[in-house]
Amino acid sequence: MQGTKHIVIVGGGVIGLCSAYYAIQRGHRVSLIEAGPPSHDSCSLGNAGLVVPSHVIPLAAPGMVGYGFRMMWKRNSPFSIQPRLSRDLFRWGLQFIRSANQKHVERSAPLLKELNMASRSCFEELAGQSGNAFGLEKKGVLMLCKKEETVREETATAAIAQRLGLEATTLTPEETRRLDPHVDTDIAGAVYYPSDCHLSPNRFIQFLTRFLEKEGVEFYWSTSPKRWIQDSGGIVALQTNDASLEGDEYVVATGSWSSRIARELGFRVPIQAGRGYSLTVESPVQLPSISSLLMEARVAVTPMGSSLRFGGTMEITGLNSPPNPARVSGIVQSVPNYLPRFKNQNFDSVPVWSGLRPCSPDGLPYIGRIEGFSNLSFATGHAMMGLSLGPITGKIMSSLLSDEDPGFDLSLLEPLRFN
Ligand SMILES: Cc1cc2nc3c(=O)[nH]c(=O)nc-3n(C[C@H](O)[C@H](O)[C@H](O)COP(=O)(O)OP(=O)(O)OC[C@H]3O[C@@H](n4cnc5c(N)ncnc54)[C@H](O)[C@@H]3O)c2cc1C
Repeated sequence: MQGTKHIVIVGGGVIGLCSAYYAIQRGHRVSLIEAGPPSHDSCSLGNAGLVVPSHVIPLAAPGMVGYGFRMMWKRNSPFSIQPRLSRDLFRWGLQFIRSANQKHVERSAPLLKELNMASRSCFEELAGQSGNAFGLEKKGVLMLCKKEETVREETATAAIAQRLGLEATTLTPEETRRLDPHVDTDIAGAVYYPSDCHLSPNRFIQFLTRFLEKEGVEFYWSTSPKRWIQDSGGIVALQTNDASLEGDEYVVATGSWSSRIARELGFRVPIQAGRGYSLTVESPVQLPSISSLLMEARVAVTPMGSSLRFGGTMEITGLNSPPNPARVSGIVQSVPNYLPRFKNQNFDSVPVWSGLRPCSPDGLPYIGRIEGFSNLSFATGHAMMGLSLGPITGKIMSSLLSDEDPGFDLSLLEPLRFN
């Protein structure tokens, strides 16, 4: 490893915090700038908490464009694109359409599987070191299907995962009930991925933040970059309202807000915000032990201690548009179709959380150094997999910042691939 460096990270979601964690493991000094206060909310907190080697297919896949158009007109559908007069949205949409093909899936799937499996190992290591401070459960994920047709589609997806070396099994309704006797289901079948895991994202963020504070990371809360001072080679300093930070390296991990920073620095990193919602029911009528996805409804159901979190909806939307209650009722209404012991009333007065997933047009994250800058990197655009890929993203960043080979071919994740 080269000498240690001062690393300035912008963004205190799971990606920024994991980047800080692995940077200090290598002896670097870290300053972290976060727009919110210590108690701030972000997409990294209320999400479904799934670690998903099973997710080998990126969002941009064949069939998604047609699905998006069909769903767009339904008020409470799980997927929608909110029409807006926006050149960025228009360009993003075109790039999404271009990426949603079989060749892209075939190229991306092995990398997504490798990254997710490596990240899973990092979670195991972190859980071991912390006395499982964030409730990691290695029990797999069940894809619950209401329709026979969906069982067939999910079995075909499972075949892709199996070819990549993942374990996946199609189950009858009876086999599903035997696997998780804690929950009544009304389904046509399921696919079980035993290597997936779940955890409490809120506790994971809390664990990372406390650990980093203890290890001497300088947190700049309620702070944003005001001006990037550059010379011909790279960034010389980052000015905020109160400070001027002179780092050896700068990492942008600002989730859905990252394309704004890219624009300020003179290049494009296209991201649209994909709003999702979650409802966490304390003392639910039934508490499954295995997390699941209600496939047609695209709702994740995750046990977290004695509570059960339901999360879903992908609403491509502006950064400042308000939450849409119709989408939340779509989630609530779908649950009893799969889990008949739950009734809509079980969700009365349950607080609704929403977060903005940072979505790239090809469904792959942006991880790497920015060409033309000697000391600037981006780590963002993880869409539906930011929690799952958080630790491996941090580990890859720490290798890059230490001028070492990260051990993965990152060409598909090149941050300037759409410029
Ligand atoms: C309903 C739902 C369910 C999900 N379920 C899962 C799941 O089960 N598994 C999974 O892997 N992923 C899941 N995700 C996706 C996951 O939550 C995201 O991919 C992940 O949180 C993105 O992390 P991030 O750090 O990139 O962004 P964020 O969490 O959004 O963090 C970015 C941070 O940057 C800060 N920031 C922004 N601009 C600035 C600025 N100018 N200066 C300083 N700070 C700034 C923000 O305040 C924020 O704290 C889910 C998402 C949703 C909405």
